[in-house]
Amino acid sequence: MRLLHKLRTRWEKIQTTVYQFLGRNYKCGCGHVAKWKTVLTVHGDSGVFTLPSRKPDYCSQCWAEAAIKCAWCEGTIVPGDAITLYTPSKKGFNVPEHAVIYRHEPHLQLVGCLRWNCADTGVDRTGFWIMPGKVQRAMSPIEELMARGGTEPICVNNVTDSQEAILISDETPER
Ligand SMILES: [Zn+2]
Ligand SMILES: [Zn+2]
Repeated sequence: MRLLHKLRTRWEKIQTTVYQFLGRNYKCGCGHVAKWKTVLTVHGDSGVFTLPSRKPDYCSQCWAEAAIKCAWCEGTIVPGDAITLYTPSKKGFNVPEHAVIYRHEPHLQLVGCLRWNCADTGVDRTGFWIMPGKVQRAMSPIEELMARGGTEPICVNNVTDSQEAILISDETPER
C-alpha cells in the first residue's frame, strides 16, 4: 500500500510538472492566474494542490499563504481544516509568535488544530479555518446537543467535514 501511495504521489508530481509548463492558466477571483495543479510547499511540507473549480475564488498561492500554525503544536492548518478555539488555562500565558488569536475578549482564544495528540477530543471542534485566512465558527457537537435540548442523541460522522457542521455567524454574540 505504501509503495502504491508513493508511486501515486510520484505520478501526481509528474502530472503536475506537465501542467506547470503546458497547462492553461485559470484566472482566479484574487486576480492571480494559476495552473490546474500546482506543487505547493507549506511550512516545509509539499503536496499537490488542485484548483477547486474552473473559476476559483483564490489561486493556489493565496491558499498556501493563508496557511497558519496551530497555537499549541505548531502543526500546519490550511484553509478548510477543522479547528479548536481553546483559551490558555495558565495564568500569565505568553502567546507564542506563531499563534493566531481569534479573540482577545471576553477571554483569549487561540486557533488550534484537531490532530489527535493536540485537541483533546473531536467534540472540541469549534470552527474551520477558511479563505482568505479567517475563522468560520461552527457549532461544536456539544453545542449542537445543547441546541436540541440535549434529549436526542446526535450523530456526527466526521467532525472535520464542514458539510456536516452547523455553521454559525461570527456576528452572533457569544454566550
Ligand atoms: Zn491569488
Ligand atoms: Zn495542534
